[in-house]
Amino acid sequence: MGTSCYVAEEIMENALHARDRVGVQDFVLLEDYRNEKSFIENLKKRFKENLIYTYIGSVLVSVNPYKDLGIYQKEYVDQYRNVNFYELPPHVFAIADTAYRFMREECRDQCILISGESGAGKTEASKKILQYLAAASYHATQVEHVKDKLLTSNPVLEAFGNAKTNRNDNSSRFGKYMDIEFNFMGAPLGGHILNYLLEKSRVVHQNPGERNFHIFYQLVMGADDNLLQKLFLQREPELYYYMNQGNSTTVYGVDDAAQFQVVKSALSVIDFTEEEEEALFMITASILHVGNIGFSEENGQAIIAQEKSVSSICKLLGCPEDVLKDALTHRTIEARGDTVVSPLNRDQAIYARDALSKAVYERQFKWLVQKLNNSLENKSESGRRTLMGLLDIYGFEIFQNNSFEQFCINYCNEKLQQLFIELTLKLEQEEYRREGIEWETIEYFNNKIICDLIEKQHKGVISVLDEECLRPGDATDVTFLDKLETTVGTHPHFLSYKVADNKTKKSLYREEFRLKHYAGDVTYKVEGFLDKNNDLLYRDLKKAMTKSSNLITKCTFPDCELTSKKRPDTVATQFKKSLSQLMDILMSKEPWYIRCIKPNDNKLSAQFDDTIVGHQVKYLGLMENLRVRRAGFAYRRPYEDFLKRYKCLCPSTWPDYQGNAIDGVEKLVNHLGYKSDDYRMGKTKLFIRLPRTLFETEDAFEQK
Ligand code: ADP
Ligand code: MG
Repeated sequence: MGTSCYVAEEIMENALHARDRVGVQDFVLLEDYRNEKSFIENLKKRFKENLIYTYIGSVLVSVNPYKDLGIYQKEYVDQYRNVNFYELPPHVFAIADTAYRFMREECRDQCILISGESGAGKTEASKKILQYLAAASYHATQVEHVKDKLLTSNPVLEAFGNAKTNRNDNSSRFGKYMDIEFNFMGAPLGGHILNYLLEKSRVVHQNPGERNFHIFYQLVMGADDNLLQKLFLQREPELYYYMNQGNSTTVYGVDDAAQFQVVKSALSVIDFTEEEEEALFMITASILHVGNIGFSEENGQAIIAQEKSVSSICKLLGCPEDVLKDALTHRTIEARGDTVVSPLNRDQAIYARDALSKAVYERQFKWLVQKLNNSLENKSESGRRTLMGLLDIYGFEIFQNNSFEQFCINYCNEKLQQLFIELTLKLEQEEYRREGIEWETIEYFNNKIICDLIEKQHKGVISVLDEECLRPGDATDVTFLDKLETTVGTHPHFLSYKVADNKTKKSLYREEFRLKHYAGDVTYKVEGFLDKNNDLLYRDLKKAMTKSSNLITKCTFPDCELTSKKRPDTVATQFKKSLSQLMDILMSKEPWYIRCIKPNDNKLSAQFDDTIVGHQVKYLGLMENLRVRRAGFAYRRPYEDFLKRYKCLCPSTWPDYQGNAIDGVEKLVNHLGYKSDDYRMGKTKLFIRLPRTLFETEDAFEQK
């Protein structure tokens, strides 16, 4: 430990010499730090040398290598353990280690926020962090099973929540926040998972080249003959409409059958009983049968084409066949005490069928997460505990066609940016002001105005959307757009054809609106907004599900839902509420950031596309991040704390010091040889510009 500051210097020296070849390992050291080109150049240099990690102060920037670099084995875990942040090359383990140590030593909850586009490496990073925490944390037999559970919960969640997309062969189709609970010794006691917005439309539809959720393929390929027969399935993914629309039922390099065994053994680790496991697979299978029902039409009335599929479903879910058949082809509407049953036409029946599949799958997923949480819950110990949060959530999305899903995802990113501003930029500047420290004010864009545009009560996009969704009668996506124009038409971050100037009009269609997000403009097509926000499942189908004897469906479609008069929240409102909760959770913790970047759109290991990286640097706000870092102070400590810890390093403060803390600290830093630019003395705190300075002091302390 004692020699580590020399090591640090040596590394720093080496880094300076090698800079031409490998770039700088902390962007703070970049000379031309305001220039985006040099920023990207630095990333590229390092990427070519297989150095995928670079810091911006304490923020870790990671570029997906798309190949195994061999940098996550045990010796790396050991190397990064208990070593100060800047002493070793940047690494995801360094973030994990520092956060973990801060948590233990200062007893403060931490959270690691991982952001980036799909395929940038978020999920891999979060798995590496879990791996690190499990390896580095206190070992004892009684916590081993907790670690086991934390690690094995992942394959299960991924089986049900991940899918192959054109961007990522293992794309998470839901947002995930996980808290891990530790005791005072730093041993994990349990965990809790929150999930966000599962992309359930994937259950019924996949784009060319994409797949449904992994579990369907794992089940069909991996179940033994016995189980397959029990589920009325055949080992041919091509037979199932919900599995083959993308015309791509296999993933290169992935063995679905083997993965099924992994999932099965994981289920037993997380306390699934045999009955629960069976119920889970029965639902999964039944969804495949639902997809194969098929309808023909006679006199405008839908007729079930595949009776056999329906009977399989009913056997699997244990629900009465006549009830389900009726529900698939009819709709009961209750109005003023009267009930009217009307037949569905073919399109309506298909719509209702797909809504059923989506609802069943989504509820099963929620149930699964809850089940996981029960299993991860800390039941053993009470007393002091601290939390480490891990957020792995979709990044900003701009596609050719942007719909309700992108709207929600981008809203989420606005909120996270807001959090970043609140936690780092704003608080930081306010603290400098409060402490009377002169410093260069950083201009930054506060995106609160966009958050308000989206979420403000009565006046925001979500409120307007909900109003249209709840309005009986003739509400459509277009009337929603009209309402938007009257309500937020003049907002500086809103545009649509009707309210745009003549020049901008050219770039907009009538049925779109554009939001000027902090990361860039996104144009949303209103088509489908009402429908997706309403997320309607006809009552008849709900009722059929409440009759199911499958232990999971029985629990996810409770009877009370049918009798409840209260309308459930819309999708956007649910999301808004859960995001607001998430913000509260994160606000109370000390944040660490990992910003993931993908080097190209082709999942290739040796390609670094400047333009694609440039977009991400912009969406992730990295340049602004760097500007703030350069201007600010990395560490601050109240005088009392600093003095208390380090007073033994200076003869004027040790062993006996009677004066006030601020004078003591002044004596101390003079004695330690801090240079005048390295630190500032605020009203109540000492500010240290570079972490290196503090680490050197810490080393001197350790040697003592
Ligand atoms: P995201 O969660 O951001 O969508 P993933 O974490 O799933 O992206 O990464 C996509 C793929 O990229 C992974 O399946 C893996 O093949 C590759 N990858 C990501 N991070 C790394 C890494 N650190 N080392 C090697 N390969 C990686
Ligand atoms: Mg992911």
